[in-house]
Amino acid sequence: MRGRSGLLGAVTAAKRPASPAPTRSAPATPAAAASAPVVAAPAPDADGGEPAAPRGAAALQIVRDHLGDCQRCKLAPQRTNLVFGVGNPLADLIFVGEAPGADEDAQGEPFVGKAGQLLTKMIEAMGYTRQDVYICNVLKCRPPGNRNPEPDEVAACEPFLKRQLAAIRPRMIVALGKFAVQCLLRDESPISRLRGNFRTYEGIPLMPTFHPAYLLRDPSKKKLAWQDLKDVNAALARVGVTPPNPPAA
Ligand code: URA
Repeated sequence: MRGRSGLLGAVTAAKRPASPAPTRSAPATPAAAASAPVVAAPAPDADGGEPAAPRGAAALQIVRDHLGDCQRCKLAPQRTNLVFGVGNPLADLIFVGEAPGADEDAQGEPFVGKAGQLLTKMIEAMGYTRQDVYICNVLKCRPPGNRNPEPDEVAACEPFLKRQLAAIRPRMIVALGKFAVQCLLRDESPISRLRGNFRTYEGIPLMPTFHPAYLLRDPSKKKLAWQDLKDVNAALARVGVTPPNPPAA
C-alpha cells in the first residue's frame, strides 16, 4: 500500500470497478443503487429539525462512565486495562477493530501494537493523524491469548460500541476485519467478499476492509485495503470532508 509517506507499499495503481453505493437514504431501486455515488452521512446537525442529541466528548464520557469498571463478561477478571477508544470525540471518520491485544491491554489504548502501527500508517496515508479520527474495538477487553471474541462477549460489549458511535456520530465508519464487520452489519459473508463495498450502519456509510493484522500476514492485500481507504476519502470529499494533510492524487 502506498500513501503519501510511501510506507505501505506500492498500490496506487490498483483499481477496481466502482462499488454499489448505499447512500444515507436508500435508493428506490437496485438500478439506482448501482449508479448512485457514495456519499458520507450528512453533518449531524444538518437537518435543522429536532434539537440534535448531545454528541462529542461529553456524550462519550457518559458512555465511558456507564461502562465503568466493567464486569459484564468473563474477560473482565483477566484484563489489565479496559480499552475504550481514542481520538477525536467529534471525528468524521471512525475505525472499528476487533479486540485489544497484549500491547493494547497493557497500555489501555487501541491499536498500539504491530497491527496498530500499520493502522496508524494507513490513517496517515489517508491524510489524517490518530488524533483526527476515532479508533475503537468491538470488545473493550483482551480475549486471552488473542483468541477470537465469543458471542457472549460480543453481546455484552456491543451496546457500548453502539453508544460510542451514537455519541460521536461520524460521517463514515471503516470496519476492520471480519469481526467488526459481522458485528456491525450482521453479515457472515467472508471479509474477502465484503471488503471494498460500501454498506450502511444506522444511516452511516460503512466500508468493510481487511484487518491490519491480516495485512501483516498477507502484504499482497495491502493494495486492496488502500483502494478501500481511497474510496472512503472520495466519499467524504463528496460532502466536503477532506483530511488535514491530503495525499497526492
Ligand atoms: N487488533 C484489534 O482488532 N484491535 C486492537 O486494538 C489491536 C489489534
